[in-house]
Amino acid sequence: MTTDSKFYKEILDNLSDGVYFVDANRRITYWNRGAERIAGYLAREVTGRCCADSLLMHVDASGRQLCNSGCPLSETIKTGKTHSADVFLHHKDGHRVPVEVRISPILDEQGRPVGAVETFSDNSAKVASLERIQLLEQQALLCPLTKVGNRRYARMNLETRLDEYRRYGWRFGLLFVDVDHFKRFNDTYGHSAGDDVLKMVAKSLVSALRESDFVSRWGGEEFLITANNSDPDKLAAVAERCCAIIRSSVLERAGVRLRVTISVGATLAEPEDSLESILARADRLMYESKEAGRDRVTFDMGSAMAELAR
Ligand code: GH3
Ligand code: MG
Ligand code: MG
Repeated sequence: MTTDSKFYKEILDNLSDGVYFVDANRRITYWNRGAERIAGYLAREVTGRCCADSLLMHVDASGRQLCNSGCPLSETIKTGKTHSADVFLHHKDGHRVPVEVRISPILDEQGRPVGAVETFSDNSAKVASLERIQLLEQQALLCPLTKVGNRRYARMNLETRLDEYRRYGWRFGLLFVDVDHFKRFNDTYGHSAGDDVLKMVAKSLVSALRESDFVSRWGGEEFLITANNSDPDKLAAVAERCCAIIRSSVLERAGVRLRVTISVGATLAEPEDSLESILARADRLMYESKEAGRDRVTFDMGSAMAELAR
């Protein structure tokens, strides 16, 4: 390595952003420390591999895979033009990380693109500070496995949301999320793989939501989400995004690619709701999603009930 390239490598390695270079075949030629931190893969694990080859597998907010069509890297290599996009990348631990990617072409002397450089920054400003997590753990409000709110926190949050709705009219939505066929998953891959999947599901759900939305583990393989300032359209969009992001999350274990789906019940708070009534309604809607074939959202807005067209 020349002094010059050592100098540049040091600069790149000290950036907090992820930076990687690919050649014209999208094969990774360089991967900095920021990329190691954000995506979880070490440089030696990815160098020489194609980024579309079960690695980063970018998806958009609807869960659409961008590797084969819509890959921002291919677009830049083809056109020589700079691109940027908000996408979700695949973390080595399986969950999805929201990132903003910026791609510039690498040109030869004749100005022809021979590769590209992608930089990406972690968009999850919602990643709670370590201090906050420790405080919540001390107060016994976090689930130790998944680091989202526990059942106690979920109840407190729901009571607060209901109180605000009654006082100020701030309507919120509730999603009841249940992992599909999780018993079978545990039986097939083992309880420890099941635990890793629960962690992946929790992180991907947090990634799919706004900072003001709240995720908690209600118990077992069940999660609750409250979405503030919601209306039927917004709630349906949030619920579909959760389903799509989980569907596209992959955990690799001993060469096996593990994925799960979720069934969701989605409902908006009603003026006469109590904690029990809104929970029972969301739970019932989740069961309707199970009966209709799983991996879907069943939505109701009070009296009108509509299975979202898929
Ligand atoms: P369905 O699609 O109808 O929801 O089927 P299911 O198998 O997910 O439902 P069921 O309620 O029968 O099974 C839930 C399973 O979740 C059973 C239990 O072993 C597993 N589970 C609950 N908590 C944990 C946990 O903390 N870790 C792991 N690995 N598994 C858990
Ligand atoms: Mg369950
Ligand atoms: Mg289940």
